[in-house]
Amino acid sequence: MTRPLVLMPGPMNPRVAEGLGDRFEVLRLWEAADPDAVLAERGKEVVAVANGGARIDAAFLDRFPSLQLVASFGVGYDQIDAAAAAERGVVVTNTPGVLDDEVADTAMGLLLMAARWLPQAERYLRAGKWEERSYPLTPATLKGRTMGILGLGRIGEAIAQRAEAFGISIAYHNRSRKDVAYSYYPTLRELAEAVDILTIVVPGGGGTKHLVDAEVLRALGPDGILINVARGTVVDEAALAEALATKTILAAGLDVFEHEPKVHPGLLEVDNAVLLPHVGSGTVPTRDAMGRLVVENLTSWFDSGVPVTPVAESKGLVTKARG
Ligand code: NDP
Repeated sequence: MTRPLVLMPGPMNPRVAEGLGDRFEVLRLWEAADPDAVLAERGKEVVAVANGGARIDAAFLDRFPSLQLVASFGVGYDQIDAAAAAERGVVVTNTPGVLDDEVADTAMGLLLMAARWLPQAERYLRAGKWEERSYPLTPATLKGRTMGILGLGRIGEAIAQRAEAFGISIAYHNRSRKDVAYSYYPTLRELAEAVDILTIVVPGGGGTKHLVDAEVLRALGPDGILINVARGTVVDEAALAEALATKTILAAGLDVFEHEPKVHPGLLEVDNAVLLPHVGSGTVPTRDAMGRLVVENLTSWFDSGVPVTPVAESKGLVTKARG
């Protein structure tokens, strides 16, 4: 019996290939000497894509007339045109939920480091300076603070729970109010004015591009700490570098950048930014869980026509397939 052909444009977590095993044939495009020739020969047979981070737009989708499913690794899928996929009857899945705790932990780590200058203190010790003089007192504390969460979704709620345990009050801005006890602000500007920590956990893409700009940073103010574990595109990085350099805000903790792996030079220059190389979900157990969910989506779709975690844009297709 022919096995469904799954295209893998680039390398992925090993659990994906392991899990697909004998059930699917996997076409590892990045290993091909001539990828275009491989696609010309086998593109018509491709029924699914297992995607690590490749950009998937309308032109990409049009190369695969038999495509049914794009199973994406990660909860953010701003690199995939899910609306164009839906127009073509192609379902997109992502890996929500299994990474919430890990990313929330990363956000809290960034907050502690940015507020208390812990990376600077560690560098001080390693440079042998402690033997000369005690490390200076740092200006900020987490005590008495309020955190505004831009994007109180799955990960946002996990961050809120952790921050509450630190004694931090919570407020949020989403496009729509949720049934939660936290204060809701109908605009980001009002949220930024009301808080002194702003934590970004909205999806990336055109709808959220540069939501956090110079005006929002001014509203956050000189005690303000900006944490971004979402996507770099949500922040105007030039405005942020300027706000950090001029102490318009106190500090920032960033896991994500607009042009990864390139980091805006202005952010590298300032000492009041803690910068991580997009490690939010980056532990072996969590990445393995994400890999297993990619496999479950593929298996479930080809066994029963029902994906486990379709993205919002695909939900209409799934209901139709079920009905
Ligand atoms: P959810 O979909 O559960 O939550 C997203 C929240 O953002 C929702 O509450 C939504 O509410 C809100 N939102 C969406 N658009 C806007 C907008 N334009 N303005 C204001 N609020 C908005 O997503 P997750 O919590 O699972 O993930 C969030 C993001 O985190 C991912 O999309 C991904 O980009 C990023 N991420 C980063 C990781 C890392 O390694 N650093 C790892 C995992 C995720 P509403 O619809 O009411 O507006």
